[in-house]
This record gives sequence, C-alpha cells and structure tokens, in this order.
Amino acid sequence: MRAIDLIARKRDGGELSDEQIRFLVGGCVSGEIPDYQLSAFLMAVYWRGMTKAETVALTFAMAESGGQVDLTSIPGVKVDKHSTGGVGDKTTLVVAPLVAAAGVPIAKMSGRGLGHTGGTIDKLESIPGFRTELSIEEMLRQVSDIGIALVSQSEDLVPADRNLYALRDATATVESLPLIASSVMSKKLAAGADAIVLDVKCGHAAFIRTQQEADALAKLMVTIGRRAGRRTVALITSMDQPLGCAIGNALEVQEAIEALAGGGPDDLRDLSSILAGWMLALGGRASDAESGRIEAMRLLASGAGLAKLRELIAAQGGDAQIVDHPERLPAAPARLPLLAEQAGFVSALDARALGEAVMRLGGGRATQKSAVDHAVGIIVHAKVGDQVEIGQPLLTVHAREAGVAQQALTALNQAYTFAASKQPSRPSVLAVVS
Ligand code: URA
Repeated sequence: MRAIDLIARKRDGGELSDEQIRFLVGGCVSGEIPDYQLSAFLMAVYWRGMTKAETVALTFAMAESGGQVDLTSIPGVKVDKHSTGGVGDKTTLVVAPLVAAAGVPIAKMSGRGLGHTGGTIDKLESIPGFRTELSIEEMLRQVSDIGIALVSQSEDLVPADRNLYALRDATATVESLPLIASSVMSKKLAAGADAIVLDVKCGHAAFIRTQQEADALAKLMVTIGRRAGRRTVALITSMDQPLGCAIGNALEVQEAIEALAGGGPDDLRDLSSILAGWMLALGGRASDAESGRIEAMRLLASGAGLAKLRELIAAQGGDAQIVDHPERLPAAPARLPLLAEQAGFVSALDARALGEAVMRLGGGRATQKSAVDHAVGIIVHAKVGDQVEIGQPLLTVHAREAGVAQQALTALNQAYTFAASKQPSRPSVLAVVS
C-alpha cells in the first residue's frame, strides 16, 4: 500500500477501506508517512469529506493508536463529558463534582485551552499546588477512594490525534466534521468511560458556526459512540456569548465555586445541571435526564457538590481553602472597566473577541507550548438582554499592567451591540441528539 495512492483516491472523492485508513493512521504514528503526505490527506478529507463508515474506521484506528485506559476495576457505570470548546465554559468544574457527589464515578481526562477557547486543565492549575499529571494507577486509586479524579490526558493516549491535530492546526483543516468527530471521539473511547455526554458548541465563538453543522457533527459522534458500544448523548448548545461571566483561568474557578454554592450566573448553573442530569441518567442514578437535572439542583443546594470539589482539590495536592477563601487564587493587579458609550439593551456580545482578548492578556496559548498566566481575564457585567445606561461598566479587564489592560479595552470596543428594545436570546440548549 502507498500513501500517495490513498491521497489520490480521497482527492478524487473515493471511499477508503478500514485497512487503508489503518495504514494511514499507523504511518502517522510510526513516522513512516511524512507530514507533507498526511497534510495532503487532511486537505483531501476537508474538501471531499468521509462516509460514516470511513469516519468510524478513522476514529477506531486513532483510539487504538496508543495506550487505552481500562476503568473496569471501578464499579458502576463510568460517565464522561466533553465540550467541543467555548469561551467561559467551566461546566466540567461544576458538573464533575456534582455527578460524583451523586455516586457516579468520574475518572476524567481533560485538555488544555488552545486559541480563543479555554481548557479545564489550565483552569485547575490555577489552584495553588493542584497536580493534574497523575499516573493512570494514581487516577484509578483516587476514583476508588473519593469517586472523582480530573487529570490531564496521558502522553501515550491517542498519539495519532496529537500528530494530526498539530497538522490540522497548521494547514487550515481543523473545521472538518469527520476530522473533528474522529479527534474528539477517539480520545473519549481511549479514556475508557461506558457512557459519554457531549456538549457540541455552536455559534460565533465555536469551531462550528451553524446549528445545521452542529446537528450533523452531533449525530456523527453519537453514531461513533454507539458503534463502540458506549451510550452517547449530544447536546447542541449556543456559543455566541460567553458562558457565565468569568473568562480566564482563576476567575473561572472562582465562578464555578460560586455555582456549586448555588449562586453564580443563571446560564452556568442551568447548563451545568442539564449536563449533570444527562450524566446521572446515563450513569443509572436517575430515571431520565429531567429527574437527573432536579437531583443535580438538589446537590447544588445542599452543598454536596461543593464538598466533593474540596475533597478533589485536597486529594490532588491543591489548596482546598480556596473554596472558602477565593482571595488565595492568583489575582491580577490592574483592573480597568469598559464603559457603555450608549444606552440600550445588549443585543449581541462577541464571545470570540473576548476569548481572543484573554488569550492576548496571557490567559491562553497562541501555540501548544506557550505558558499561561492564570490570574488574568475578563469579568462580564452586561450580557445579552441586559439594559445598560451610558457610563455603566460592561466588563472589567484583569491584567498584569494597566497599559496591557488598556490595549485589551481598545480591542474590545466593538464587542457589544445594542438595540432599542430587548431582543430574545437563544436558549442555551438548542437540541438534544440521543
Ligand atoms: N476538539 C478536539 O478535541 N478536536 C477537534 O478537532 C476539535 C475540538
């Protein structure tokens, strides 16, 4: 078999067999197929797409390209969750402790942020002392002891995705449904959970812009999950404005704690309880997603989710006192507000611009190797539907220096759009594919 023939076949719109796809994935991991041929293959897939059978074969081959986690030693149904990436999306920090508090074991591997989107591991690392790099044995022991571990993806898990994602990032081939579906689902399958809840973000600040595309991606990922024997549900959720009000690592941890204490922004609490409800239903702790949601709300109100977060932080070497004393989290000294220059109702808030501003403040990475400043970020005070007066603060930039904060404010001048009357905002959950 030769890579060049398979590239030509895909370029001409042909379908590849299981064996041919395994050959390409094998050559990607062993280094036998050079990056220029893999890049050409990715571009051919970008334009020609893949059939369902090809996408399933690619996902399985990628999932099997490195080590796989065996969670069978942990009793019960293990449920995982994944978001395709957004701005201000700290739901894992709320949902995972809630679900664990209800008795569903959570052994979750998460990623770091890239570009304008945040990642759970960066957020957790803003907690002083918190260790995200546990070995698989340590992770399994901790889940047996306290029912939850949140760790960074181990190096040998899905090496094919690491190589292919880096090439996609450099060749403008990220936004392809079969490539996104196989990238996400290969990592979920290799991480070993029995059931998976997917949060497919759609909108201006997501990888997928339209609901139609998000629906196709959700269906594809649910099909892959089912073919692998994992119960899989996908929620399509809007990502036009940030989720909650905090963007930036330590600020998001603080907001997640507020949500677990029953406070914080409504949209964050609502989406977290809906996701937790589905996880409890798939985990066999609730008869359906709605009863699961009600149970999640109860665990928020009782403080059981917050208590589980304290246990998790302490177990992973972090300072659990940050839960009651958020001032122990890293904080940025320069804080400048963006003031409204006109009165009216907020009709749109550009989450992508806010995510990019936080990245430029140092809160995210331009490349996978950049260092992250956990303290910096943005707190949003006015969201879509809110009425504002001239001079009212719309958001506050948290930066290391006033000059940098001022640059961020200048870049955010156009982030808000106003209308004379209140515009209906999209519901947070647009559809469920189950
Ligand atoms: N998240 C992933 O893990 N992979 C993609 O391709 C896109 C989002």
